[in-house]
Amino acid sequence: MNKYLVLVNPWNKWNDNLDFKIIDVNSRYALNRMAEEKTYLAFKSFQAYALKYGYDIEIESGYRSVDYQVKVFDNCAQKKGLEYAKKYVATPGYSEHHTGLALDICLKKDDKFFIEHNLPEDFKVFLKDNAFKFGFIVRYPIGKEDITGYNAEPWHLRYVGSLAEDIYKNNLTLEEYLEKQIVKSGYCYQL
Ligand SMILES: [Zn+2]
Repeated sequence: MNKYLVLVNPWNKWNDNLDFKIIDVNSRYALNRMAEEKTYLAFKSFQAYALKYGYDIEIESGYRSVDYQVKVFDNCAQKKGLEYAKKYVATPGYSEHHTGLALDICLKKDDKFFIEHNLPEDFKVFLKDNAFKFGFIVRYPIGKEDITGYNAEPWHLRYVGSLAEDIYKNNLTLEEYLEKQIVKSGYCYQL
């Protein structure tokens, strides 16, 4: 099993045994950002490519430890209540950001950073149609919420390597892609 296809979602807990190399990244958006090494190198190539099309992209959030996610979750639950936190913050241990392979992308425009729901529509389309060239998929697409377990997040990219093109061109989520592979290979294994 290719470790870059690891599945972490509300039904599959992150198991920190894949030995990903997590490195510091130089993000202009905020200090102390980290990501898996190959993921970051792929991002740097995508960043240079995007700039040619007028999009100055940056990493808003990358690797997050389980401890950090506990703090984010508790903080949100305290401020807005447990139900709200459960809906909008990944349960610690079940966030794809624990792998280091997930990057939330922001856009710098006129000395200002645009994040998440404030990102322009044309940029979301650009991410969707170009990220695969660098090994990324948009992990939580619109209309596949029941399959991924998350609301659509056009800014959340997931590094999967060279299989990204296949996943993108067949309009699949990682869940659907992995299921297809299992059916094809004719046996089941623990994802
Ligand atoms: Zn994210």
